[in-house]
Amino acid sequence: MAGGSQKKTCPNCRENIYCGNTICPLCEHPQPNNVRLKKKMDKFQSQQKQWLSSMTKNRIKSHVLDDAALLLEKLHALGLKPLLLLAYPPTKRVPRTSKMKVFMPMHAQLSTSAKTCLDNVEAIYKLMVAGEIAFI
Ligand SMILES: [Zn+2]
Repeated sequence: MAGGSQKKTCPNCRENIYCGNTICPLCEHPQPNNVRLKKKMDKFQSQQKQWLSSMTKNRIKSHVLDDAALLLEKLHALGLKPLLLLAYPPTKRVPRTSKMKVFMPMHAQLSTSAKTCLDNVEAIYKLMVAGEIAFI
């Protein structure tokens, strides 16, 4: 059936419509998308300062990085090709230079050409983080 088999309520006209509809067939009001993500983002935004102070106080940034690595594995298991580029802020020991790290699923295999492309992506990302443009 077009539009899916499950139904939801249109926020504009309160009629039951199929979940797959992006526009209400009755009132032609666009349906909100990513409602679940928006709720989670709003909740995080409201608690961001407490969350950050807790992370800083307990020094558990590594736990968040572990969660990110686990998320990459989950995305890989779903058949996606995840890649996460991180730039760490400069430290007192090494000021002016950001440490870069590329996160990929543990079992992801790269061909030689893919590895070359990834090196180029990493170099471009490094330039983006530094806010500089290099001319060759
Ligand atoms: Zn409607």
